[in-house]
Amino acid sequence: MTDAGGVGERGSRWIVDLDGVVWLAGEAIGDPGAAVAALRARGVDVLFATNNSAPTRGQLVRRLGRVGIDAAASDLVTSAHAVAGLLQPGERVMLLGDKGLREALDERGVTVCLPGTTRVDAVVVGWTHVFDFDVLAAAAAAVRDGARLIGSNEDPVHPTPNGLEPGTGALLAAVATAARTSPVIAGKPHQPMVDLVRARLAEAGTTGRVLVVGDQPATDGRLAAQLGAAFALVDSGVTGPGTGVADVPVALRAATLGELVDRLPSAS
Ligand SMILES: [Mg+2]
Repeated sequence: MTDAGGVGERGSRWIVDLDGVVWLAGEAIGDPGAAVAALRARGVDVLFATNNSAPTRGQLVRRLGRVGIDAAASDLVTSAHAVAGLLQPGERVMLLGDKGLREALDERGVTVCLPGTTRVDAVVVGWTHVFDFDVLAAAAAAVRDGARLIGSNEDPVHPTPNGLEPGTGALLAAVATAARTSPVIAGKPHQPMVDLVRARLAEAGTTGRVLVVGDQPATDGRLAAQLGAAFALVDSGVTGPGTGVADVPVALRAATLGELVDRLPSAS
């Protein structure tokens, strides 16, 4: 365990992952609303950072509301926004992804083309249920023809109440393999998302300690390391209790976000 001093103090900021921390497939884990309210009452700012590119910002704000968290779109960063930052307005993109990515690409001024369109500048892969052999073949062909391959993230799995589902990384690996290339990845812990989070911290004038809270050491823990922040691991998602963690310093570990907050020393 590394030093976690100051992470619950006024002026500090928590960067909180969503899947496996706040909810599992939209079902609240414990009482995240109470946990976030307690943090804000202490003067801790909370920013939500997710690698899930499927929901729109509006959908995420409503989902947060349903689990008791009052949040604005400006309290969120997603891998969809990190992807959009890798594209230029006017570029033509083949999208294998859901509404959140579509929203981010539209806001960026990118032209989204149907699978099978020739001469695209990039193929973007995010989390989607719409993925079959024909889509894979079209995406791989576009990349072989010169399009950049960009993934929202490389998470191999996605936690749900019924266990693990394939994550974006599984879909992205299929395209990359068929195109014989390596993708650029936008989400945690890669540079586009690191830059996005760093920009938000600067905009907010964060001066205190920064803590990243997440269920995946490989993404959330490495994001913390990139930011020079502390990492708190919760065992409510991909990483179960008792699972060892290699390579990533863990400052705090708890069963849930709520337990993490409950264990903070009393605010002075
Ligand atoms: Mg997670």
